[in-house]
Amino acid sequence: MFVRVLCVAAAAACLLSSCAGRSQTESGSLATSFAPAKAISSANPARKADADSPVALTPVAWGRFNNPGSLSGRTLTVSSLSDIKLANKEVVLTFDDGPMPKKTEKILSILDEYNVKATFLMVGQMAKAHPEIARKVVDAGHTIGSHTYRHADLQHLSFDAAIAEIEKGRDAVISVTHEDAGFFRFPYLADTGRLRQWVASNGMVVLDVQIDSKDYFGVSPAAVATRTMNSLRANGKGIILLHDIHARTAAMLPALLTQLQAEGYKVVRLRHSNSSMMLASLFD
Ligand SMILES: [Zn+2]
Repeated sequence: MFVRVLCVAAAAACLLSSCAGRSQTESGSLATSFAPAKAISSANPARKADADSPVALTPVAWGRFNNPGSLSGRTLTVSSLSDIKLANKEVVLTFDDGPMPKKTEKILSILDEYNVKATFLMVGQMAKAHPEIARKVVDAGHTIGSHTYRHADLQHLSFDAAIAEIEKGRDAVISVTHEDAGFFRFPYLADTGRLRQWVASNGMVVLDVQIDSKDYFGVSPAAVATRTMNSLRANGKGIILLHDIHARTAAMLPALLTQLQAEGYKVVRLRHSNSSMMLASLFD
């Protein structure tokens, strides 16, 4: 019996570790970006309920719950990656892969409640599919960027095909929102030096990640919030990677924001310095 339990544990560990690697999460289509969570959820139906469960707050958060407004930090206007210099206890919230009905909207209302602004890196075909939600993101005052057209793994494309994906994604987001999409994030964070250079020389700022919430794993909202806070405490500051396509992300966001506020963090709002110039050139 003991051996059997060990085997099951080993198999589960194997499944989780393969999800962390590129082979499972990064095979290059929009659909696969949803796959790891679904795979684990269906293997263990009890976990499905976790995705909508509220997250318990820690005692420090209970004690300072009534502290409205103090989470919102400065606005940082940037024209290149090197301009993004965060002080200790400063974070940038980023949401990738949307817009997604219900989930993006829920996240927008939570951000509004906490009076903080985030950056949404939209997938082109998602923005095309849900233009009204993409516009809600802009109307709420958040910053937007693109994330390719179909969530392609650009390391597995030719240079020209990768550029076409990036341009198509950016154009889709701009055509839907009529707003600057001056930021870019590589799907699966799969970049190359040459592509980074191309993105920068074409008026976009690549957004890297310092704190990966790993909200794409099929774990509970509480586990995501705890992992994010632990990583943040170790790093002191940073750009946080989240996804507005997962229920667990929306479920844990109030707890994460409450905890950030309780521990004295500030959410910095990013702005691209060339936004109006870039839009003017596109609509001339
Ligand atoms: Zn993504």
